[in-house]
Amino acid sequence: MHNRFDGKVVLITGAGSGLGQASALQIAKEGARLSLVDLNTASLEETKNKVLESVPKADVLLTTADVSDEKAVENYVNQTVQQFGAVDAFFNNAGIEGKQNLTEDFGIEEFQKVINVNLNGIFYGMKHVLKVMKKQGSGSIVNTASVGGIRGVGNQSGYAASKHGVAGLTKNSGIEYGQYGISIKAIAPGAIMTPMVEGSLKQMDPDNWEEAGKEFVKPNPMKRFGKPEEVGYLVAFLLSDQANFINATIIPIDGGQANK
Ligand code: NAD
Repeated sequence: MHNRFDGKVVLITGAGSGLGQASALQIAKEGARLSLVDLNTASLEETKNKVLESVPKADVLLTTADVSDEKAVENYVNQTVQQFGAVDAFFNNAGIEGKQNLTEDFGIEEFQKVINVNLNGIFYGMKHVLKVMKKQGSGSIVNTASVGGIRGVGNQSGYAASKHGVAGLTKNSGIEYGQYGISIKAIAPGAIMTPMVEGSLKQMDPDNWEEAGKEFVKPNPMKRFGKPEEVGYLVAFLLSDQANFINATIIPIDGGQANK
């Protein structure tokens, strides 16, 4: 079979865990050279080891960076270009959930922290990668939004504002850059069983979090959590040339949750 990413350079943030890690594994199997970014150096090493287990010859660059720091973002983009000479595809994915609270009780610092990582981090990433892609005259970007970026979920002022913001940035920039051969889309995952979701279930019910998880997904039409690899398959498709005409739009992967 033709590998969709043979020789391509794919940059992924939040690559140390969950959706970023699952996407890195999927895309590595299809021949990509990977530039992986995360705040957590140990988890980046873990992703690299997993990639090398399945693709021993994979070319992998690791950069520890905080995506809410614009200079660090500029640096991870520069490192990628220095090492590989291009950025063909970008999974702009790192994010945090933040604490849950009613709007009136939502901490100002907490709100700003979530916006800094989830919204500013995505904007900085696009700003620096788009300069490179515009020169190339090609590229694809997938931003990670959320079901919480399409509809209200409750108790998530910071997260909701940040993810609706990601959806807005995606639509705006997609319209600007389509003319340069660059497509920009966002994914809107529902509840996917990653360390982020496991962590919030454990906060809700430390002793019985697996049962709490079963209750949590009961309202989902498919009655289950999504799997990180299911998101990996979607991201690989969306970053590939096959999805070039999908632009300035948000793709749900949520078992139907956003339509209820
Ligand atoms: P995760 O916690 O498993 O992975 C997130 C990764 O991002 C971690 O490795 C973490 O170290 C990294 N990260 C966090 N802050 C960072 C920063 N400031 N700079 C660099 N890296 C940072 O979570 P996940 O579930 O894989 O989430 C990935 C993305 O998907 C997030 O944007 C999240 O909001 C979104 N999302 C997840 C779900 C879900 O159900 N899992 C649903 C909707 C959206």
